[in-house]
Amino acid sequence: MPKTTKPIGRFAPTPSGRMHLGNVFSFLIAWLSVRSRGGRIVLRMEDLDTHRTNLENARILREDLLWLGLDWDEETPPQSQRDEVYQEYFQRLSDMGLLYPCYCTRNQLHSVNAPHLSDGTYLYPGTCRNLTDAQRKAFDRTPAWRVKVPDRQWTVEDLLQGTYTENLKDDCGDFVVRRSDGMFVYQLAVTVDDGLAGVTEVVRGCDLLSSAPRQMYLQELLGFPHPVYGHVPLLIAPDGRRLSKRDKDMDLGYLRAHCAPERILGMLACACGLTHRQEAISAKELLGEFAWSKLKADPICPDISALVP
Ligand code: GLU
Repeated sequence: MPKTTKPIGRFAPTPSGRMHLGNVFSFLIAWLSVRSRGGRIVLRMEDLDTHRTNLENARILREDLLWLGLDWDEETPPQSQRDEVYQEYFQRLSDMGLLYPCYCTRNQLHSVNAPHLSDGTYLYPGTCRNLTDAQRKAFDRTPAWRVKVPDRQWTVEDLLQGTYTENLKDDCGDFVVRRSDGMFVYQLAVTVDDGLAGVTEVVRGCDLLSSAPRQMYLQELLGFPHPVYGHVPLLIAPDGRRLSKRDKDMDLGYLRAHCAPERILGMLACACGLTHRQEAISAKELLGEFAWSKLKADPICPDISALVP
């Protein structure tokens, strides 16, 4: 295949409920960034956690995206159907001698220290790294699997957040790639999926910035090029609280019943710095307004009152 210079972006929603405004904002920026340069978008349902996700939510999510005017070119298989693929890459890490079984319980892990990274990740002290075979056998439970991390700096040159650096050893420690119940974890799945889909640009919420170094490390091990990262600000309520799926008035079910997509997009575009006035505008019309340099990096407090009277 000829090498394309056009960007490939992605939407990677978790179909655990209706999208909220924060998701809409991330997808809007992902879409504008790629489409304004004539690139392609891949959609992927991140439904690894089958207890929290379902097909009906995925169906509504697609419908909501299209209603907003955010389209995609291809949908890759949902993560829940890709165990064999993840298994293959898990095996590669194992063959490199980088995986080891971890028998620590959640209580043990949490009693050692407080969450270290902004996403609540605990620094793993390496408790199970050097267990002997005999010690491993003595545990009467199925282990999780961790990947060993090197003592090395990882730097993300983020399109919006600037330079973000982490030393995985000091800031995160060896991290889990497969849980004790057999489920492959987000960090591995997302690296494999983005890599195989040829994604060149990852645009998502700022809460995932601290995941980027772990994903860059796995990309390097598994032979995938690093994508460009753009971590967009989170949306917050006037009291500073982060908006979440629990804020029902922020979810698309409620918003779709009360206002047109152009009003939602117009409000978000103005709140993030793309436009100067809060006017209804379509995703296509916003293409002409888009530039990363216009976007604010700080949390955004959207003016919801402008949407629902
Ligand atoms: N599935 C994640 C979410 O819905 C996004 C993961 C990603 O963009 O890497 O928050």
